[in-house]
Amino acid sequence: MKKLIGIMGASYCGSTHLSLILGSLYDALNIGESHWLFENNNDMRKCSICGHDCTRINYVMNLPKKSFYSSLSDKLACNTIVASDKHPIFYEGKLDNIYFHPIILFKSPERHLNSLMSHGDTDPEKNLSVLQDIYTAIEKFASDYDYTCLDYDYFLSDKENVLKYLCKKFNLIYDEKAINYWNFDHHFLGGNGGAYFKIRTKKDFYTCDYVDYRYKFNLSEKNMLLARSHPYNEIYLKMVKKFTDEF
Ligand SMILES: [Zn+2]
Repeated sequence: MKKLIGIMGASYCGSTHLSLILGSLYDALNIGESHWLFENNNDMRKCSICGHDCTRINYVMNLPKKSFYSSLSDKLACNTIVASDKHPIFYEGKLDNIYFHPIILFKSPERHLNSLMSHGDTDPEKNLSVLQDIYTAIEKFASDYDYTCLDYDYFLSDKENVLKYLCKKFNLIYDEKAINYWNFDHHFLGGNGGAYFKIRTKKDFYTCDYVDYRYKFNLSEKNMLLARSHPYNEIYLKMVKKFTDEF
């Protein structure tokens, strides 16, 4: 049966990076934030390179919703589809005829808090509650399936071995070249377009190669303590345990 690897998590969890890597493996294809194909936001439905006239995006428009991912894998002639649709609502009602394997991708509370605060809302309590709500909803949804927890910080520290582990788990052929695939041109749509721009211009993007320690310079001591004492930390530690137990 065809397979869908759905990378789920909060904004800035690293899903663009991971989806590019997995989607570059043999017989797999990354479709990014495909939920934009169903939404009427014209600005998010355009490609990061060609704009609205992208033949790659137009090619996969208007597929039936209930079997969206399996139709996509038929049309693209590959057995494994990788999506970075991060929230359960994007998968609901679209999973006919495909084996769904969610990956819950997460970062440490202080790293994730730093990412969220540097991209918009500067209220630390509110951001941590958002993480708590999102990861609670994702875990509840994913637990109906055979799901994987992946610690993005650990992944960055040991990319080759984590990728080998994921390949084994998803029955994909390991290819070390996949690790640098993010550095090529990609026809992204939606939210990935922003990440794409930052990758290509190296502006405000951590170039995907290093463990991110920017929180140490950006977060106050108070906010670092808050991150580790917030209820979200419990969820985080549970996900870390599942990851380390299975890795
Ligand atoms: Zn394009």
